[in-house]
Amino acid sequence: MSDAKYLIIGNSAAAIAAVSGIREVDPDGTITLVAREEHHTYSRPLITYLLGGKVDEEGMLYRPADWYERVGVNTILGAEVTSVDPQAHTVTTADGRTLGYEKLLIAVGGTPIVPRDLQGADAAGVFTFTTWDDAHAIRQYIEEHGVQLAVVIGGGLIGLKSVEALVALGIRTTVVELADRMLSATFDETASRLAQKRLAEAGVEVRCGTTATELLSEDGSVVGAKLSDGDTVPCELVILAIGVLPATDLVEGSAVATDRGILVDDGMRTSAEDVFAAGDVAQARALLCGTKRCIAIFPNAYRQGAIAGRNMAGADATWDGGLVMNSVTVVDMPTISVGVTEARGEDCEELSELDEDAYSYRKIVLEGDRIVGAVFVGEIDRAGIITGLIRERIDVSSVREMLLTDDFGLISVPAEYRRRVLSGTGVQ
Ligand SMILES: Cc1cc2nc3c(=O)[nH]c(=O)nc-3n(C[C@H](O)[C@H](O)[C@H](O)COP(=O)(O)OP(=O)(O)OC[C@H]3O[C@@H](n4cnc5c(N)ncnc54)[C@H](O)[C@@H]3O)c2cc1C
Repeated sequence: MSDAKYLIIGNSAAAIAAVSGIREVDPDGTITLVAREEHHTYSRPLITYLLGGKVDEEGMLYRPADWYERVGVNTILGAEVTSVDPQAHTVTTADGRTLGYEKLLIAVGGTPIVPRDLQGADAAGVFTFTTWDDAHAIRQYIEEHGVQLAVVIGGGLIGLKSVEALVALGIRTTVVELADRMLSATFDETASRLAQKRLAEAGVEVRCGTTATELLSEDGSVVGAKLSDGDTVPCELVILAIGVLPATDLVEGSAVATDRGILVDDGMRTSAEDVFAAGDVAQARALLCGTKRCIAIFPNAYRQGAIAGRNMAGADATWDGGLVMNSVTVVDMPTISVGVTEARGEDCEELSELDEDAYSYRKIVLEGDRIVGAVFVGEIDRAGIITGLIRERIDVSSVREMLLTDDFGLISVPAEYRRRVLSGTGVQ
């Protein structure tokens, strides 16, 4: 295959958005997309529903089956890129191919963490949960072994997504979380408490302040998790959901600078000429603190990919900063958290309203006259407006008293911002 004008490594949110970004500017330039997974592009958050049996394989697709052909993309699927040589403008794959490019995008996402010191993690029945194939393999194992008891190690977003699927399959699940509460990176204490109560009602046991020190097996298959508090939890399945790290190994030793992830500027350019990065692997400017952070969520990956694509084709699109935002359903209870979820510093103030019995909680964190974060549990109707106010750094001093009232809506926001939203230029 001859060199591509545009070479994209990855086939998920950032990569797909980049293809669209390129095509907005350059309808004809050759695009080659290379990815480790063999599947057509799919929506990663839906693996929960694939495992839980709520979505079939067709429902997983992120673009129609003929999409690559329609937009003019050559695909090399099932090939892992192992190194990048920015000087030679080439990448190398594990199966020995060398692919050339004029502009390169690295959109390889993250790699799940498997703790090296966890004895027994190689037993059958121990999985990570980040890909279509993981969901498929877990489902198959559950069916073949009649799994009834599971342990999920890690009570963060991916842990919760695993639990959701296991609950849907009627499997009794224990979550083991080292911190003193679940979702500590996403929620404040009150929201975590409501989530844990909700899970307990659905039969999920949440054990905080402890972790698995060893996975026990019999005949090569996992049969229990030994915890640091001395207890052993019997199980036939373990999902490791401790976290995901940006997959930077393919640029190790190259001119592409990394910190936690691949460092990018506001145009998604890396330190190496003609090399861009976007999505979970990229470390880009965060909106509220201004420092570069990896914010591993789907909308960030998509928006960064779109910017990278346009800029690879010669445009000058600019990243307006990443905002941490999580929208999670905890056993039918919708939740959204955005930005800073706990007041920090003297200039910060929290407004909140809680109805514990109704599982309803709303909190807004203000810094001076601006909203910097919010948590919604149960009622999430106004999360969109509040997120827009955070993103646009709107002065809310004139509507402060109304922010948590039931009649707060678009009509209540400062007129200038309302006009921008209604004319389509504001962020909703
Ligand atoms: C279970 C689960 C649930 C989630 N739920 C949500 C949610 O509700 N909301 C939300 O905002 N986010 C959610 N996320 C996070 C979201 O899926 C990611 O932020 C998003 O998919 C990142 O997109 P990406 O394009 O950066 O990378 P990824 O989606 O990680 O894709 C990486 C791509 O690169 C390919 N690749 C990787 N390494 C190589 C290599 N060396 N060579 C070639 N190809 C390679 C992979 O095959 C893949 O195509 C969830 C994630 C998981 C795992």
